[in-house]
Amino acid sequence: MVAETIHRLKEELPSNVELVAVSKFHPVEAIRQAYDAGQRVFAESRPQELASKVPQLPSDIRWHFIGHLQTNKLKMVLPYASMVESVDSLHLLDAIENWCGNNRKTMDVLLEYHVAEEETKQGFSREEITEILTSPEEYPHVCFRGLMGMATFTDDRQMIRSEFMKIKELRDSLISAYGDLPKLSRGFDRLSFGMSHDYGIAIECGSNMVRIGTLIFGERAY
Ligand SMILES: *Cc1c(COP(=O)(O)O)cnc(C)c1O
Repeated sequence: MVAETIHRLKEELPSNVELVAVSKFHPVEAIRQAYDAGQRVFAESRPQELASKVPQLPSDIRWHFIGHLQTNKLKMVLPYASMVESVDSLHLLDAIENWCGNNRKTMDVLLEYHVAEEETKQGFSREEITEILTSPEEYPHVCFRGLMGMATFTDDRQMIRSEFMKIKELRDSLISAYGDLPKLSRGFDRLSFGMSHDYGIAIECGSNMVRIGTLIFGERAY
């Protein structure tokens, strides 16, 4: 089942779209099935769970962190993650810079852009993101790779579409404003949006990184 879905998604997704398999709350056996089907990028949202799964699985997996990250949990995440997609506050960004500086590491990050209606969702405003990218030299151990976002949880596909388009438009305007900054020239090109129920719309709106959990692994038992 897991392998079939991985194969089907790889055929269905355009070649520029990276599939991130969201394995939170699922056992390592399920992750291994996806791995054996060729999947190499996985995402977790809880620090402890990530830290305990990593040593049980092959070392060529690239782990993304996609949950709300508290700064006292960085040491459970940053040694293992190849990307933190969910940077949602200056406090967290500063802490990642400090940790990476102390540990001689550079971390790829996405800035989470708050586009949903729900107040409960995390993320920066457009102004805050623009402000951060005005002085990327303040973060020598952080590589800004793009934006991440989540649409409002709704059946209203027009609303989802317009929220996704906001993310794409912000990325495009940042690239035209700051594209020549050395810090961004490694590519501020990643747009991570789209999950099991809305990844089709996401791709139509320019997403090149979809985070899919339920469709691959089934419902989560919380
Ligand atoms: C859980 C989660 C997903 C995956 O959602 P599904 O609906 O299971 O595909 C994607 N992104 C984030 C940030 C998540 O927390």
